[in-house]
Amino acid sequence: MALINEILNNAAAVAKGMGVTFKEMLQPTVTEVYPEGPAVFEERFRGVHVLQRDENELEKCVACFLCAAACPSNCIYIEAAENTEEGRISGGERYASVYNIDYSRCIFCGYCVEACPTDAITHGHDFEIASYNTSTLVYRKEQMLTPLPADFKPLVVEEQSSGGGH
Ligand code: SF4
Ligand code: SF4
Repeated sequence: MALINEILNNAAAVAKGMGVTFKEMLQPTVTEVYPEGPAVFEERFRGVHVLQRDENELEKCVACFLCAAACPSNCIYIEAAENTEEGRISGGERYASVYNIDYSRCIFCGYCVEACPTDAITHGHDFEIASYNTSTLVYRKEQMLTPLPADFKPLVVEEQSSGGGH
């Protein structure tokens, strides 16, 4: 009797499992076709960083080093420089003349993003950075900075032509 019960239970389990299989066979295919097609991300996916610009297209990074201090992998390298009347790069006193992230060490934890007081650094969705050459994994500011719009005119040129000063 116990043997018959076991056989019946097993048959019921198989039928239940196959029921799920047949049900899924009738559903639309949801398989992502990456790399043939684009990868699909959730909005909060943490990929290669993006250095943001403000509404005047100035760099948001003011070289405060808080992101580097928060980084548990010690993979952010920054050199700070002063903005001048002739050339304003960021909205603050200083800007990052060098801003590197070493992606051979970055663990995409997001601590740098959370630490940034100006929302200058965010995570983008780029993730295809695998390389046999680790030197290519050190990304420079120019690789991460949001590009300027094609019709952008630098503020400093307008200030100089109008004779304005601070
Ligand atoms: S995501 Fe984490 S590990 Fe990567 S640079 Fe930011 S703080 Fe460092
Ligand atoms: S990215 Fe943000 S936290 Fe890092 S140096 Fe620039 S302003 Fe400071």
